[in-house]
Amino acid sequence: MQTAYRTHTCGQLRREHVGQTVTLAGWVHRRREHGGLIFVDVRDRHGLTQVVCDQAAAPEAYARAAEIGSEWVVQVEGAVAARFEGNPDLATGEIEVRAAVVRVVNASKVPPFEVARDLNLDEAQRLRYRYLDLRRERMARNMDLRHRVTAFVRQALNEHGFIEIETPILTRSTPEGARDFLVPSRLNPGTFYALPQSPQQMKQLLMVAGMDRYYQVARCFRDEDLRADRQFEFTQVDIEMSFVDEDDVMALNEQMFIDLCRAVVPDRPIRQVPFPRMTYAEAMRRYGNDKPDLRFGMTMEDLGDLFATSDFAVFRSTVDSGGAIKAICVPRLFSRKEVGELEEIVKAFGAGGLAWVAFENGETRGSVAKWVADVEPALRERLGAADGHTVFIVAAARKVAEDSLGRLRLHLGEALGLIDPHELAFLWLIAPPLFEWNDDEQRWDSVHHPFTAPHPDDVSLLAGDPGAVRAMAYDAVLNGVEVAGGSIRIHDSAVQQHVFALLGIDEAQARTEFGHLLDAFQYGAPPHGGIAWGFDRTVMILAGESSIREVIAFPKTVAGTDPLTGAPAPVPSANLDLLGLKVAPRT
Ligand code: ASP
Repeated sequence: MQTAYRTHTCGQLRREHVGQTVTLAGWVHRRREHGGLIFVDVRDRHGLTQVVCDQAAAPEAYARAAEIGSEWVVQVEGAVAARFEGNPDLATGEIEVRAAVVRVVNASKVPPFEVARDLNLDEAQRLRYRYLDLRRERMARNMDLRHRVTAFVRQALNEHGFIEIETPILTRSTPEGARDFLVPSRLNPGTFYALPQSPQQMKQLLMVAGMDRYYQVARCFRDEDLRADRQFEFTQVDIEMSFVDEDDVMALNEQMFIDLCRAVVPDRPIRQVPFPRMTYAEAMRRYGNDKPDLRFGMTMEDLGDLFATSDFAVFRSTVDSGGAIKAICVPRLFSRKEVGELEEIVKAFGAGGLAWVAFENGETRGSVAKWVADVEPALRERLGAADGHTVFIVAAARKVAEDSLGRLRLHLGEALGLIDPHELAFLWLIAPPLFEWNDDEQRWDSVHHPFTAPHPDDVSLLAGDPGAVRAMAYDAVLNGVEVAGGSIRIHDSAVQQHVFALLGIDEAQARTEFGHLLDAFQYGAPPHGGIAWGFDRTVMILAGESSIREVIAFPKTVAGTDPLTGAPAPVPSANLDLLGLKVAPRT
């Protein structure tokens, strides 16, 4: 990567270069003085090279090196020499450059934090000086990984006959379950564009347009509360295919995930290939959520039948009132204090309490030991409970029991160190319900989005029992995180209209908001389906990070602000006038 300023990058020189005269350019990473010698580590994105300035051999270079500080930009000319003692942790560790000339290209103020050390820095500070934060090795590595993942996916899809097509950012609302970001139109005062929550409708229109196989590394915008794996703007690898069924979409993406992992994180084992497929119903039943983490066991069992005639009023009444008794078996014993702490976790998710039994030295103890005596053999067998194990039980409405115990399972998996952080455990989550009931609004909501096709066997249920209709949808889950989701689409305008009606979108509203799609479906829409990868999340997991902010160059804080540019910011009132807008005083 020779340029006017350098012959090599700071990560390039090896033993074979010994004896050559080279020029490097980069930042002063670290500097140490050692009686007549100054060692300067010069850094760029590609790596780090040790430069030695010898007062006796090159007094001018030494004098310059004595002046420079951290993060100054320097240019160094000198000969490559073998190091007396190599540094095996450094790619350039076998060599050093003996400086003949050191030039200061640009000075730097004292940085607000040390780039050279991976300290636990305050995030606001990191984001305020993101250009310095990105100089750090970990961040440079994350950016590089992200780039390689994008490049890999593009190449794989190109080879499979896909074409990349850009879709508008200034568009109309596409419902993905979040709030839209709106952009006022200057030319048409009082009207607004919505930023796309996804390119969903456009990619479907591209299928009607005969594009056959589309993809886009697409920016999406959703105005929703931010957290570790959510940002207002995020990236999807958005994919749509014509003349496909669910297996076609899953097979193609599964192979891409496998090939990708083998290419970019070859030392991380994939737990199971082909990826297991689990129905939504089973995931809820055994893991308490729709993105199971398969890296460890402790799955839930239903104990309702065992306690249907129990004398224990709490369990009995739960069963009588249609609730669930769910249990997990943990291969450990706990103190009462520890159980108390675990109980707080399930309570935070709505459970009234956490019942437990422990099997220790042939004895059974715990809060409900007395009540399980009758059914102990069956309970132990169902849960695989042995001596030294504890069984935790939640009795509550089914949703609460599954959710709270599912959270406890995740907590314990982590806390007891049952998770191998290197492992990549993928699965396909299939056959979720098409709708879920929205009690607040007294209507059905789409579980995926309104364009998802009902399972062909369930179409007849649309009229009488919408809650029982399964969707032709699938999610790829990796280590407990949804990394992709998609579906086979409705391509028939009558079915689409029926679904809109169930969602409480009447004919007039459907016409106004989705008329373009309904119209398009009347001109020979091919059967089609697709998927979108949550790209930031995928890269986050491959990078071993726990927040997507670590793999996005310029993310927002969880409060939705950008400490670097100060966005969002007020604008002069003249700009608002131009848009016909007035900001109402805060009440
Ligand atoms: N548009 C969907 C989403 O953003 C993905 C898809 O159905 O292809 O989740």
